[in-house]
Amino acid sequence: MTNNEKAELVLRGADVVTMDAARTVLTGADIHIRAGNIVAITATGSAPPDARTVLDARGCIVAPGYVNAHQHLTATPLTRSLVPETVTGSESIFGWAVPTHAAVEERDDEVAAMLGAVECLRRGVTTVLEAGTVAHPDAVARALRRVGIRGRVGRWGSDSPGMPGTGPVAEVLAAQEANVRAIGRDEDDLVRGWVTLVGHDLATDELFTGALELATRLGTGATWHMSPHEEDVVAYAQRSGLRPVEHLHRIGALGPNLLLGHALWVDDRELDLLLETGTAVAACPAAYMRLGQGLQRANRYPEFARRGGRLALGSDAHNASDAIDLMRAAWLLCALDRDQGGPDPLRADETFALATCGGAAAAGLAGVGSIEVGARADLVVLDGADPRWVPRSDPAMQLVWGDGGNAVRDVVVAGRIVVRHRQVLTVDVDALRAEAAERATALRARAGLEPLPRWPVRPAR
Ligand SMILES: [Zn+2]
Repeated sequence: MTNNEKAELVLRGADVVTMDAARTVLTGADIHIRAGNIVAITATGSAPPDARTVLDARGCIVAPGYVNAHQHLTATPLTRSLVPETVTGSESIFGWAVPTHAAVEERDDEVAAMLGAVECLRRGVTTVLEAGTVAHPDAVARALRRVGIRGRVGRWGSDSPGMPGTGPVAEVLAAQEANVRAIGRDEDDLVRGWVTLVGHDLATDELFTGALELATRLGTGATWHMSPHEEDVVAYAQRSGLRPVEHLHRIGALGPNLLLGHALWVDDRELDLLLETGTAVAACPAAYMRLGQGLQRANRYPEFARRGGRLALGSDAHNASDAIDLMRAAWLLCALDRDQGGPDPLRADETFALATCGGAAAAGLAGVGSIEVGARADLVVLDGADPRWVPRSDPAMQLVWGDGGNAVRDVVVAGRIVVRHRQVLTVDVDALRAEAAERATALRARAGLEPLPRWPVRPAR
């Protein structure tokens, strides 16, 4: 122990995938936790597990909690699989997403975020960055704190006519600043504010640069969407004659505190600019494939990562990838690159890093993504008794190719056990499920949207 104080929690006897700089895997380790942080890692039994709580993880694998760097937590968790597969990208946004968001009530945001956060935890995600379609950021921050997940929350920002919450640049930026200050900026806060624009072609140059300056001034990060599809490329050709990332570079709106959502359709010059400016990217492979946005046609992520690019993974939305599943994102990115047949494809160990330490670094999250003394105690216990883990060979390959996030048994966030034996402990999940179903029906009615299932669905007679 680092001093004489007792640990509050000890995870006992696991094989620990540390994701430290050397990527050490420790067998038979005890992880000692106090005040939300890891204070010691010892051989099991060498220091008595003298803690208020001992979580028996013998036979299990403990990994750092996964970082979901792009997740819509409001509205879409309540309209899961509502948007038909057959609509175009802009129909999906303007015909379905915008009416839904326009009809969202504060409690909808809160319930949707709780539902999304519960889904995150059940899949091993311990940090989630809301992707910026929030109407009631306070409610979402409250929801994340209640569920006990680490998060970053921004509010939907745009100065484009017709968009929710639109207004003059100064007004939009003032709302962004008020939001960050209200949610909090303290390093130790579980949930912190984030500067978030919708992005695409839905902001003026002044708003893009103002948002990035604001994030720098407030000591936080900024996120917006760009180029998940070719439509942004076409829009920017008309707007300035440049590619989207080139345009952002010309106006000074790239940099290390920008976590760009997507940047899938980038050319050589844009890729160079992202690398030169240290701009981070959150990739959501399952969403691009499900929406037909062109991961197989435009994928530069492996090259970006290999050249030192700051890459993180996300699951996007419940009408895009449909499931919060970081390991599915990792699996897809790795599998597709390997299938291309190139000389140096992504490996499982590199891909797992994108879901943990690499993703955390890309998103500028200090102390998250690895299991080391001094790090945040955000941990996932994978059930070693699950057949997926019998027998054991290369843990990296088993994590990405074999486990796929299915063996998550327990989850610890900031030293608090939030999932135990696959049950979320922090909220009444049955009550949440009932309220979510009720609110989903009411929300769809207000938005004038109904599911159009392909199969006839009727009560049994
Ligand atoms: Zn998004």
